[in-house]
Amino acid sequence: GRNIELEIYTDKGMTNRAYHAMESLKKSMLWDEETFGLEYDLDLYMIVAVDSFNAGAMENKGLNIFNSQYVLAEPSTATDSDYDGVEGVIGHEYFHNWTGNRVTCRDWFQLTLKEGLTVFRDQEFSGDMTDRTVKRIDDVSILRGHQFPEDNGPNAHPIKPESYIEINNFYTATVYEKGAEVIRMINTLIGKKNFRKGMDLYFKLHDGNAVTTENFVDAMAEASGVDLTQFKLWYKQAGTPVVNIKSAYKDGMFTLTVDQTLPKTSFGGTQEPMFFPLTIGLYTKDGNDLTPVDNKLIISKASESFSFETGKDVIPSLLQNFSAPVIVNYDYTTNELITLLKYDRDNFNRFDSARRLTMISIDQIIKDSVVGKDGTIDSNIIDALKYLLEDNSLDNRYKATLLYIPTLDIITATMNVYDYQLADKALKTYKTLLATELKGTLFRLFEDNVTDVFELTKEAIGQRTIKNRALNILSFLGDDIKEIAQLQFNRANNMTDYMAAYSALQECEDSVRIEANSEFYGKWKDNFLVMNKWFAIQASRNDLEVLNDIKELSSKDIFDKNNPNRIRSLYGIFSGRNLAQFHREDGKGYELIANLIMDIDGFNPHVSARMATTFQTYSYLPPALAEKMKIQLEAILKIDDISSGLYEIVSKTLKTRA
Ligand SMILES: [Zn+2]
Repeated sequence: GRNIELEIYTDKGMTNRAYHAMESLKKSMLWDEETFGLEYDLDLYMIVAVDSFNAGAMENKGLNIFNSQYVLAEPSTATDSDYDGVEGVIGHEYFHNWTGNRVTCRDWFQLTLKEGLTVFRDQEFSGDMTDRTVKRIDDVSILRGHQFPEDNGPNAHPIKPESYIEINNFYTATVYEKGAEVIRMINTLIGKKNFRKGMDLYFKLHDGNAVTTENFVDAMAEASGVDLTQFKLWYKQAGTPVVNIKSAYKDGMFTLTVDQTLPKTSFGGTQEPMFFPLTIGLYTKDGNDLTPVDNKLIISKASESFSFETGKDVIPSLLQNFSAPVIVNYDYTTNELITLLKYDRDNFNRFDSARRLTMISIDQIIKDSVVGKDGTIDSNIIDALKYLLEDNSLDNRYKATLLYIPTLDIITATMNVYDYQLADKALKTYKTLLATELKGTLFRLFEDNVTDVFELTKEAIGQRTIKNRALNILSFLGDDIKEIAQLQFNRANNMTDYMAAYSALQECEDSVRIEANSEFYGKWKDNFLVMNKWFAIQASRNDLEVLNDIKELSSKDIFDKNNPNRIRSLYGIFSGRNLAQFHREDGKGYELIANLIMDIDGFNPHVSARMATTFQTYSYLPPALAEKMKIQLEAILKIDDISSGLYEIVSKTLKTRA
């Protein structure tokens, strides 16, 4: 081989924290050689880490610029997921050397050519380095949590946008994450071997050129011999396809009828049927696997049926491993989902059954609360969860995903009018019931996984994950966990345990919470990255008082509104994750964010426009709340010399409601 010099530049005294980044860079280089036959082409590769940066990182050839969050990591200051973040972003920027730099975009409309493809590559890389199923679950959760809402909002666009005022507004979950799903579908449709052939052909034809998404898909079609003409609609049409599936059993034959519709979006455009793979499994009610060998259905029409000779009625496991970025509706009974949760051989769909069961429970709690009844969780669901949590053959990190807690916007997305307060109340009830019902099991999981030694092995990460997930759920019981959380907070020898204990203490009585806040501050006030976590936790407090906290926090010396990482960790977390407070009935949450946007637009239009996307649910709000948001949106539009990016987002948002 060749010798390549690898260099990472950090602020003075931080170089020992760049070790993991350097290891990740070496792993990325090896992985790309082994997976795609792609080698680095210069003799020197440099990374510079800075504390103040609008994005995650930028792939400038031979000299990447990084947000220090994605470079600096050591056990005492970075959580396990921070470590994963470093590995993923280092990989992403490195992979751009081929998909982005050697072959680049003809114009900005082709952004997903490099981003969708490179996100797909970094997802695969991280999956190989960590745990493929858990990585897939995380990626799909990001897609559902960020991209699906974009499709429902004022800035809906296909992965290849048709027009823009400010291209910065199109560094979106649609272009990146949905773009990656589109590449993944090609991989599923033509198979891994053909995908590699397609990549080889793409580089053979286009190395050194500035090309289009068409060029990429054509290379894949040519290398595989698969007709991808209809598939190209994914680049042109906006919106999340809704796939309604029904089943019937007759004379030994099990039939699935698959109907797809593409909902109307703010983007407009055509709504033709999409072309995608729908991977399925079939199970008897005792969990016997009757899945046919060829279980990849190709969907291309508005409505079509598929029959299987099963000899008995079966339960379908649909969209295995999330084979397409769509919403699948199927009228499952609770017992059918429990069967899939226990026996599905597709681990992604076992998680998805846990998710569906949770959503059914929360929906029932909402219905009960409307008629004044106390909520409950079906005891069969609790029993199934206990059964799985006590199954020692299951990987701990995976097990933790089965304790699914949706974010508030996932719940409101199921409503015609987004009632955040109703959803918040139901979610709190669900969390408390879950913690109460699983208390014994969760305490055991917690205790069984306490260790004194810190390691970064897969097993040790799994133990920390399940232990802290148990602590997190138990914290919904409030002061019950005060002692174990305080003990962990004081003794933790790593940031994962420390942060888990710190967030659990936020659920305890005020004096405990406040003391934890000041202890944290005393210990870490000089560490820029760690203090972002401190701001974020406090901005997430679901309490009317949080606005006063934020005001006070923003006046601290260590808070600087010129620093985008600080803005994100305080205001971004508040508006993006503390949704019950952001959408509070007095409208003060909107006012806080609007004031911030007006304050920073003059010197950081990139971040002001990004912050304004948190108003994207405007058209779904109850009238009284919408009126309060409207006042703020109109105030923003009136500022002198408004940046073009902010103008684009806010004016589009206002148009979504008559
Ligand atoms: Zn990128």
